[in-house]
Amino acid sequence: MARTDGTETFFTSERSLPGKQGDGDVSDPGVSILVIGKQQHADSVITEALKRKGYLLEAVPDAREALGVIEEHECSLVLFNIGEPRTADLEIVAKLRVRHSFEDLPIIVITDRVDRNLMVRMLEIGANDYILRPLSTSISLSRIENQLRIRQAIQALQTDRNKMRDTLNSIPDFIFRVGREGKIFDMTSGVRGDLVQVSPEMVGMDIEDALPREIAEGVTAFLKKDLDVGTLEVNRSPVVSTAQEAYVEMRLVACHGHQAVCIVRDVTEQQKVESELQELAKTDTLTQVSNRRHFDELFGREWLRQARSNRPIALLLVDIDHFKRFNDTLGHPQGDLCLVKVARGLQEGIFRPGDFVTRYGGEEFAIILTETDLEGALLVAERIRESVEALKIEHPASPTFPYVTVSVGVAATIPTREQNPDVLLQAADQALYDAKSGGRNCIMGKDPDRPIQAASNI
Ligand code: GH3
Ligand code: MG
Ligand code: MG
Repeated sequence: MARTDGTETFFTSERSLPGKQGDGDVSDPGVSILVIGKQQHADSVITEALKRKGYLLEAVPDAREALGVIEEHECSLVLFNIGEPRTADLEIVAKLRVRHSFEDLPIIVITDRVDRNLMVRMLEIGANDYILRPLSTSISLSRIENQLRIRQAIQALQTDRNKMRDTLNSIPDFIFRVGREGKIFDMTSGVRGDLVQVSPEMVGMDIEDALPREIAEGVTAFLKKDLDVGTLEVNRSPVVSTAQEAYVEMRLVACHGHQAVCIVRDVTEQQKVESELQELAKTDTLTQVSNRRHFDELFGREWLRQARSNRPIALLLVDIDHFKRFNDTLGHPQGDLCLVKVARGLQEGIFRPGDFVTRYGGEEFAIILTETDLEGALLVAERIRESVEALKIEHPASPTFPYVTVSVGVAATIPTREQNPDVLLQAADQALYDAKSGGRNCIMGKDPDRPIQAASNI
């Protein structure tokens, strides 16, 4: 029985059936049976037996009146006495069926005679079963209770299904099942409306017609694979074909019948936060240029990229001159401010998208220049040196210049995959050392492949 208090109503055992616990011991007094039509004297044996089992019985001798009675009273089953079968009885059953479904209100026809054609029509129109007079009490009771059991089991299934549907619809993910040929079988609402406009019409549609291109493509690619039941694939992809750009995570699971369950989750916000965190992890908090960790990543990546295309890569190591004295004289906070300004000055000195300024450590910056040979790198280095000098940050303690200056070590090479990128770092470091010994506020270059160094200083 479906209960109104929302508790579980699963059909689990005979003992949970109404009236099954023996005469007078009613497990569920709510089960009422409506007896329609004129009863014969012998029928009372059945109705009395039903009453003893605890069922509530109501009788309506006039079949036409029954329709109104059913509207007013909750009824679990109808016993329809028709005596001799007549076409007019079909009409009554049909009318009952319009208002109450097969599983909601079982109808058992009690008849004196089986007119085969009429009884088939009766069953087609909506009667659940029929019993032929003379009635056997035990068989009649069994058939009545069978119908009640079926009703109870179906209602329990429906309750269960509704709960499952409500639960699935409360999940913000968009869940759907799709066949191998790409047709949608069923779905839940889920995800943002501007990402997927979920509507019942989508059931039966091809995913290409129903879903944003990127989602459909992801599912189609999964369906083309040789899928075993339970195979799981998780991928994340941007969706740009919708009104608002988004990121979705798709979990695709192969299941029986060459179908896949697809769970689409809107991860736009998560992706934004992750990207921001990734960016933060790569950025030096003081100067806002890339940090040492990002330098390592960039340098390794660009080294291999240039090796593949047999193009040169250059490295500039930029070190602030006499910075210890600057800190000692003006204080650490001023030193920090100076680092920020120098970093900005360095960035203003590079123009190409393949060039990267990074804080290598302390008051030292490393600049990666792709597609640049030593000659070109020396030009950039000189431009950078000049742009820092032009900042005119006063340095009262510098023995070489009244303003903050930098020394730059420059190295360039055409890398190979076999070579360790450290050779370029060592060469640039060597060049920087030379620039420091050469008087500071100058640039020095070194080709790691050639022992003779190219040099330039002012
Ligand atoms: P040189 O011209 O030979 O490079 O001399 P220098 O004083 O710049 O070099 P040294 O290596 O002796 O000192 C570097 C100084 O940079 C020491 C340290 O206090 C300062 N420094 C490193 N990181 C920071 C920072 O984040 N903030 C500040 N304010 N100072 C820093
Ligand atoms: Mg230094
Ligand atoms: Mg220094």
